Amino acid sequence: MRGLMQDWPLVVTSVIDHAAEWHGEREMVTRTVEGPIHRTNYAELHLRARKLAQALSRLGVAKGDVVATMAWNTHRHFEAWYAIMGCGAVCHTLNPRLFAEQLVYIVNHAEDKIVLLDLTFVPILEAIRDQLPNVRNYVILTDRAHMPETTLPNCLCYEELIDGEDGSFAWVEVDEHDACGLCYTSGTTGNPKGVVYAHRSNVIHGLAANGADGIGARSVDNVLPVVPMFHANAWALVFAAPMAGCSLIMPGAKLDGESIFELLDKQKVSITAAVPTVWLMLLQHLEKTGAKLPHLDRVVIGGSAVPRVMLEKFERDYEVEVMHAWGMTELSPVGTLGSFKSGMEELSFDRRMDIKVKQGRPMYTVEMKITDDDGNELPRDGKAFGHLLVRGPAIASAYLKGEGGKVLDDDGWFDTGDVATLDELGFMQITDRAKDVIKSGGEWISSIEIENLAVGCPGVAEAAVIGIAHPKWDERPLLIVVAAEGASPSKQEILEYLEGKIAKWWMPDDVAFVDEIPHTATGKIQKLTLRKQFEGYELPTA
Ligand code: ADP
Repeated sequence: MRGLMQDWPLVVTSVIDHAAEWHGEREMVTRTVEGPIHRTNYAELHLRARKLAQALSRLGVAKGDVVATMAWNTHRHFEAWYAIMGCGAVCHTLNPRLFAEQLVYIVNHAEDKIVLLDLTFVPILEAIRDQLPNVRNYVILTDRAHMPETTLPNCLCYEELIDGEDGSFAWVEVDEHDACGLCYTSGTTGNPKGVVYAHRSNVIHGLAANGADGIGARSVDNVLPVVPMFHANAWALVFAAPMAGCSLIMPGAKLDGESIFELLDKQKVSITAAVPTVWLMLLQHLEKTGAKLPHLDRVVIGGSAVPRVMLEKFERDYEVEVMHAWGMTELSPVGTLGSFKSGMEELSFDRRMDIKVKQGRPMYTVEMKITDDDGNELPRDGKAFGHLLVRGPAIASAYLKGEGGKVLDDDGWFDTGDVATLDELGFMQITDRAKDVIKSGGEWISSIEIENLAVGCPGVAEAAVIGIAHPKWDERPLLIVVAAEGASPSKQEILEYLEGKIAKWWMPDDVAFVDEIPHTATGKIQKLTLRKQFEGYELPTA
């Protein structure tokens, strides 16, 4: 027997339609790239998205075309997403932190027809414009008064484009399986690979990630996505927030501690989300000024492991609940979230932090297992670690144009490239990226775990651990440290601090001090660059 429910397509335009109709008055507050704070609401955003869709259609954007954005989180970027997807086109988010050659490769590989960009990024695109033969128009996300002198060909002004339309635009009809979003993974080796999101997968993922045990945003919430929209769908918030009808606070170009604090405070933000480096800057600002976070209920942290000190500071010093999340571009991106199970709230502070430092449990729509090198499933005992495999309706089945070949095994599992443990209650903990794990005497050492302990040592601002070739053990860990401002911790002090916190054979063989640790475009420690930098390094134990 067939079900007799309506065939209501899961398309992202239904999300903005719903927000405009039932939460039209809820605000979006943006720190604009031009400077001032701008306020609008879902009803206006909906109208302006339709006007832009009308203008894009007039420029020839049709179903299946790829239109790129290089933009901060702002109301205009949000409108652009829905307008592009509402044309039946594919919104390709460009990460401005990528190198010029990577951008050229990506724009050409994706065959971007139009690029919408913020004022900040005009010089980036001017420098590569001659190498982008497919781009027909550039649209600068600003008004006439702020339009710059530019060498970008066929360059248009966003506000003028919108002003020329009346908004009587019907969203282009699409199949829910059609593509609507495109985001390239950084590709530490080989070329970047394009992850193609569908309308259906974005709707399902938005619903799932925002569950009460997940991000949990409700219509009464004011949500600040610091995580950029060019970083994997701003972790579902671009869809989940309008679904729930919550207010969105958009940080624009300023992500430093002081600017973020100002928004958290003045806009009474209740939920926010970003990578650990952003929270490091905020916590430093709070410590310097003595400010508190009275409005903030929850901070979602992911992209890299949350150091325990950070977790404890938020929870104890500022009474903010940390939601540790793990995911990747290929997962839309959220895979696990660290909300408690029954009885855990009553545990001691330390025990609760033991749980929260793990990356969390798979949300509904994500299947998960760990396996050994031969593909045998490993036990969920919190000890055995192996390759982390996932399966689900918002998880990539292939990359754009078949790049990277077959990415699923015969049973449809996707190998995340992460190594992890799973415990009896389903909490997953990342041991390391498979390529970063340190192989010492046939055993594995987690670089992440040492790093996250080391940043708890007084005087240490940031830490990275890499494997250095060793004649006897194959590889041994080297701890690389950036000292905190005004501090000069010694090797001895740092090693003493680690003693007893990790197994003896995990203790770094040496500590090296640097001024800066390199980061990838998505804010992760660039291990590849560090390994090159320390190539041939002589360990005192060698
Ligand atoms: P990139 O393109 O840089 O790989 P992604 O955002 O897709 O960007 O990165 C996904 C990877 O980030 C994961 O495979 C994992 O290694 C790491 N990661 C994400 N969240 C966490 C977390 N909470 N703890 C540890 N590692 C994480």
